[in-house]
Amino acid sequence: MIHIEGVTVVYPDGTRALSGIDLHVERGEFVFIVGASGSGKSTMLRLIYRELVPTEGRVLISGQDVAGLPRNLVPTLRRNVGVIFQDFRLLPDKNVWENVAFALDVVGASRREKYRKVPLALELVGLSEKEQSFPHQLSGGEQQRVSIARALVNNPAILIADEPTGNLDPDISWEIVQLLANIGERGTTVLCATHDRVIVDGLRKRVVSLVGGTIVRDARGGGGYDEP
Ligand code: ADP
Repeated sequence: MIHIEGVTVVYPDGTRALSGIDLHVERGEFVFIVGASGSGKSTMLRLIYRELVPTEGRVLISGQDVAGLPRNLVPTLRRNVGVIFQDFRLLPDKNVWENVAFALDVVGASRREKYRKVPLALELVGLSEKEQSFPHQLSGGEQQRVSIARALVNNPAILIADEPTGNLDPDISWEIVQLLANIGERGTTVLCATHDRVIVDGLRKRVVSLVGGTIVRDARGGGGYDEP
């Protein structure tokens, strides 16, 4: 599903964010990406939703080299990859329903499709009752659920979560990660960057550890956050 092969990323200012990374993720896998701030987690995720292309090496999504993707196919790739962030990135002047529908608007979905898909996505994250609320009327955990609904409404094969619990209390963080795990169990491939070791240790999933832009450990079945 995701093949990162010999990838190096050097930003325009000369910062080398990743060096010679190899990572293979199967369809339906759940993978934590862990490491200190600045270790390259976000850079690795940005490659997958093609906000970045590698300086060296290749990134293949379902066999397709994303750097060589014709411009007209980039929206198709993005539709197949849902993304959530630490700061939720909701539109403040749109209600919950409209925030989720927005992801369908940008891909040109019909009105009928929106009325079918938005309620399903809100039900999946347990927010059907809040569809008329605005972001400022919701708790942080609820806002993150809206952003998850928005990421999933196009039914993507891959869900990318970049520090999804960074702004949330521990109890709520745990609920959000359980929700991501449930989404993984429905067949979506999930990559979740975090430095929350309680969550990583609590959910026995594959853990890929980055230090200074290289993978230093790749532990399946819940290796935990710490070095062995
Ligand atoms: P993490 O997500 O683990 O905190 P990042 O991938 O954001 O790490 O950053 C990896 C390295 O790349 C850091 O040294 C960071 O300062 C640098 N970096 C990130 N984004 C940029 C950018 N747009 N331009 C230059 N350097 C960047």
